[in-house]
Amino acid sequence: MRSNSFLAIFFAVLLSVPVYGASIDLLIVEHGPRDSNMVALTFDACPTGRDDEYDERVIEALITEKVPATLFMSGRWVEKNAGRAKFLADQPQFEIANHAFWHPHMLEKDDERIVRELRRTQAVIKKATGRGPKYFRPPFGEVDERLATLASQAGLVTIQYDIASGDPDPGLSAKRIARAVVEEAKGGSIVVLHMNRNGVRTAEALPEIVKGLREKGFDLVTVGEMLKTADTGTRRRGDGGTGQGKGKTTRGQGDAEIKPAATASMEPSHLVSTSLPKDTLHNALHSSGEATMPDAQNAGK
Ligand SMILES: [Zn+2]
Repeated sequence: MRSNSFLAIFFAVLLSVPVYGASIDLLIVEHGPRDSNMVALTFDACPTGRDDEYDERVIEALITEKVPATLFMSGRWVEKNAGRAKFLADQPQFEIANHAFWHPHMLEKDDERIVRELRRTQAVIKKATGRGPKYFRPPFGEVDERLATLASQAGLVTIQYDIASGDPDPGLSAKRIARAVVEEAKGGSIVVLHMNRNGVRTAEALPEIVKGLREKGFDLVTVGEMLKTADTGTRRRGDGGTGQGKGKTTRGQGDAEIKPAATASMEPSHLVSTSLPKDTLHNALHSSGEATMPDAQNAGK
């Protein structure tokens, strides 16, 4: 009983993909258990090409409010901010995760390049912080089975989100960002924000987001904490379960939303398969300030 609803609720997307004749279970997590009171705030450190790509006000707010958070760092960002990465990894409240190296549109890249992005970032993070991330967030929210498979083979679980705060949008006030996140939050929600100064008003919005979520009774946790039990469930999949992972890319409960929360209107959100590039979404998310990083592997070495 418990295990049935367990898987159904936990995973937005669970794929069973043949790899080299064998079959492996893949996970693209868009949210955690809906019947929990957990919400995970996540902060991306995409490389920007700017000198100043660390928003210490965001981190200060998280530390002041004692908010656990998962920080998805691009390898390039860590390389340029190694001391900061180490400082962040040393804070017990933060979980460090992988956000590719150059932050390319990974669906356009071949397997070899993707694997290099993932592994190089793992290595850079390990070197700077001593930690080996378990989670990977695809740049621009673009993911398909191939990418998730490669990530899985690299030992990484792919983490999406169900609430895009819209924080890179300079047209949104801090109040509006906060209100939208708090209103949209459900049990198991994973919220994407930025810690690289792409989020113009992230730091300003944070205290209100934290306060609002806590007032609604949510417990703020890292992605790892949220998925702790889910991980166990994944490995057990196959003996019974829901059958939900069989077949192709599908959505679990169909309740994950991919619009930036702050720009979403009141109309019912439209569901998009995660196999589709979320072009509209990433344009909205990364329209400002996110530099196009050198794409060729030899650029900037
Ligand atoms: Zn990013």
